[in-house]
Amino acid sequence: MIYLDYQATTPLAPEVAAAMRPWIEEKFANPHSPSRWGREADAAVDVARNQVERAMGLRDGSLAFTGSATEAINWALKGTVEKAPPERNRIVTVATEHAAVLDTCEWLTDRGIDLTILPVKPNGRIDLEDLERELDDRVLLVAVMLVNNEIGVIQPVNEIARMAHDAGALMLCDAVQGFGRIEIPDAADLVAISAHKIHGPKGIGALWMRDGAEPAPLLHGGGQERQMRSGTLSPALCVGFGEAAKLAASRATRDYDYVQKLWTAALQALGPGWVINGDIRHRYHGNLNIRREGVDGARMMADLRDIAFSLGSACASGSGRPSHVLRALGLSYPQSRSSIRLGFGRYTTRQDLTGACQRIAAVAREQEHLDA
Ligand code: PLP
Repeated sequence: MIYLDYQATTPLAPEVAAAMRPWIEEKFANPHSPSRWGREADAAVDVARNQVERAMGLRDGSLAFTGSATEAINWALKGTVEKAPPERNRIVTVATEHAAVLDTCEWLTDRGIDLTILPVKPNGRIDLEDLERELDDRVLLVAVMLVNNEIGVIQPVNEIARMAHDAGALMLCDAVQGFGRIEIPDAADLVAISAHKIHGPKGIGALWMRDGAEPAPLLHGGGQERQMRSGTLSPALCVGFGEAAKLAASRATRDYDYVQKLWTAALQALGPGWVINGDIRHRYHGNLNIRREGVDGARMMADLRDIAFSLGSACASGSGRPSHVLRALGLSYPQSRSSIRLGFGRYTTRQDLTGACQRIAAVAREQEHLDA
């Protein structure tokens, strides 16, 4: 199989698997218990926390591990609303956000939140003037992602955060697809990340919180994460996340340059006739979302079962619904249907990628021929 679905998840780094192994096989102690073994596990969790914090590069805040980025986002949104003064009851977000943000915001509208969903320009970026118009003294939180999971487009998060701050609001950034790939903007107050997008294990995410902007707890119980998040932490998952973050930070330039080379090679191998969905310049280049007239993306997936790629987002792919992100760009239904997403990175070989792209292009030409 040629794996080209790096936005859905990434392969576990060998270094991460090796770091986790002792914590799966031998060291089973509860990191919250006071025994010697418990304290050893707790120390390993602390090292991991420092590694993730250092890789994020943010100051004046702290990091709590969660079960996923989805949990971190739910916590940030619901917990911020929980602590808000009654007059601050508006949330502003964007049409191209991940379902973890959009569905949670929608859920909050039944609980008194006035929700504004900003449109995006055809290139997938928000118009800052649209945001400016919406910001008033009732806005509690502005939620905008760093790198879009479907089209790779990068939003100007620091500018958005400063505008939110000027209106007395907080800023939540879903940095799941940006962490470990590009720099994390330092002006956001709440930042959600996930290990499995950076060659770490699934089942662990984290919420970084600026001092003073900590949301009310989402999960109640033992208060294991400094009384803010309950549930026994898995040292294996924490250690894996820490190692993945350390690795991503130490290889940042190398990984980034390699992805640039893969992007160029993929476009060359695909040949003419393709349109790239979303901005090219403000984009993470490990995400190539493309369309071509006459292509049926779902049929192409069926024809190329040994290549793992995606139609829009992993969640939208399974549902048969047209992607909300592509719709937000203004694409027609046929244009969305003719779009595919190729995601690649550290462990993708150039040969696998170009071979897959040539076969994708060949199937596209066949489909064009059949439809003619
Ligand atoms: N946000 C974005 C942009 C994502 O791509 C994902 C995962 O697909 C999530 C949030 C949710 O992350 P997790 O799988 O850790 O819940």
